[in-house]
Amino acid sequence: MIDCYIALGSNLEQPLLQVNEALHQIDAMTHSKLICSSSWYRSKAIGPGKQPDYINGVCKLSTELKPLNLLQALQNIEQQQGRTRSQRWAARTLDLDILLYGNQIINLPELEIPHPRMQQRNFVLYPLYEISGELTLPDQHSLQALLEHCTQTGLEKLS
Ligand code: AMP
Repeated sequence: MIDCYIALGSNLEQPLLQVNEALHQIDAMTHSKLICSSSWYRSKAIGPGKQPDYINGVCKLSTELKPLNLLQALQNIEQQQGRTRSQRWAARTLDLDILLYGNQIINLPELEIPHPRMQQRNFVLYPLYEISGELTLPDQHSLQALLEHCTQTGLEKLS
């Protein structure tokens, strides 16, 4: 079993319901066990035009699935929840990203791990810190050090 971290996000069609349902589906995935999840956070959308705020969070999973099989399983959940792929960064009902897969570095056309943009995203780093404050990334950067360069601007932790 490998420990991995998944980022969840939604800004359409009742985002809080979407991310809670996604967590439920992740918990039900075969060959995997959900270990824990962060609080939900509200964040300002980045991307084109005016978009609704996002709800974001992170969960930790212990899995026997290989990385591409895990990606496929997560994409199945995205599709079940009605995500239509259009423009990059466009509003979406559900976005599931693999942040970390054990200590592995993966550079495939369809899968990059660690997730290439996680180090700049406060809506990823803050929830990740909440569930795994001692984490070190495969490049040996500590999560704590990354957070020191990451403001909380636009991010609100929900109770
Ligand atoms: P996006 O629309 O930003 O969610 O990007 C989705 C695409 O990113 C998918 O087609 C994946 O193949 C690709 N991708 C690359 N690395 C990752 C990752 N670590 N987690 C999820 N998707 C990824």
